[in-house]
Amino acid sequence: MEQTLFRYRCSECDAVFQLEPALMVCPTCAVSQRATEPLRGILEVERSDAPGELPPGWDSIDLLPVERRWFPSIPVGNTPLWRPERLRAKISFPYLYLKDESANPTGSLKDRASFLVAAWARKNDIDRIVLASTGNAGSSMAGVGAAAGLRVRLYLPAAAPEAKLVQAQLYGAELVRVDGTYDTAYDQSLAYVREHGGLSRNTAYNPMTIEGKKTVSIEIVRQLGRVPDVVFVSAGDGVILSGVYRGFEDLMRFGVIDRVPLVVAVQAAGSCAIHRARLAGRFEEPVASDTIADSISVDVPRCGWFALRRLQRHKGTTVVVDDRDILIAQQELARTAGLFSEPAGAAAYAGFLKMRDEIDPDCRVVLLLTGHGLKDVRSAVKGLRDHGKYDD
Ligand SMILES: *Cc1c(COP(=O)(O)O)cnc(C)c1O
Ligand SMILES: [Zn+2]
Repeated sequence: MEQTLFRYRCSECDAVFQLEPALMVCPTCAVSQRATEPLRGILEVERSDAPGELPPGWDSIDLLPVERRWFPSIPVGNTPLWRPERLRAKISFPYLYLKDESANPTGSLKDRASFLVAAWARKNDIDRIVLASTGNAGSSMAGVGAAAGLRVRLYLPAAAPEAKLVQAQLYGAELVRVDGTYDTAYDQSLAYVREHGGLSRNTAYNPMTIEGKKTVSIEIVRQLGRVPDVVFVSAGDGVILSGVYRGFEDLMRFGVIDRVPLVVAVQAAGSCAIHRARLAGRFEEPVASDTIADSISVDVPRCGWFALRRLQRHKGTTVVVDDRDILIAQQELARTAGLFSEPAGAAAYAGFLKMRDEIDPDCRVVLLLTGHGLKDVRSAVKGLRDHGKYDD
């Protein structure tokens, strides 16, 4: 599909822009940005043609705004959606499915965004990607960038789990350690691009990071042969959540599905800005985050306004789980299904357990397991010590 089919639309004021690598947020809406709230003027990728039918033999990559030939050859996506029989029996949900995103090349769902960003950079003849990240986004961009022949410069705030740091370095990323928070790292990464060029891959800020993640829900529908009833997804910045909705919206547009499923955003009790905003209708003053699930630990969710509007539009909901729930869910998933998820992924299962009594057991429920457990061994050890048995 040709890229001219696509354009950006501001998710707040509806202004329309041509796709352009230097354009990140709507310049008009960005003016009202306050430091302590989610990003203003996030741009949404939109198709400009009339709704039609998908070509025979289509694949989810054909729904992305960059032509297939620009994508690197690393196999991102097409992760397994599978039936965990023992888990199904244990919890009496015979139609529960696991979408295992740890099967992505760098071990997390972030690869879907990095994949599209890499293709977009190559198409525009840009050879350097710059981002701030506390973990998976950085290791993902480093790995996918390596496959694409791109230089990746990563601004790192304080302690990220060691494995994610090692991954980024092993893939050859250039590391800049920042003495400060994610916000400081973020600002420095933008300053670098202003001065030296390159493409920013900051999450939510670069519209392609939201768009790239939509392939996961498109795959779920294709693998299931129908639309699921409920999808559980953990949320920090809310980019995955927004991407999941974008995928279902695309399939609605092409008449592949006739409804968007109930999407449940699962947040850690110590980092639940989106949940609070759903209840309040707006984002209030940020609360310092505190959770063992580092990948969903954020003070101000970058994609918050966008995600909140999507939840409202599609009548999605949110649920909060504490660290104990997460660590116990992580163990139960591992022991009953054989799937070792990092805490942020296991949170989806913890959220399901919390809401289970409100869901019809004959529903088709999909849990999105967003990242691999070996990325954060320390948390798993803590879980074993506190709620199981650990022998060292
Ligand atoms: C980034 C990430 C999340 C949360 O995604 P957001 O877009 O920040 O909401 C969840 N799980 C894992 C493993 C992640 O890397
Ligand atoms: Zn705008």
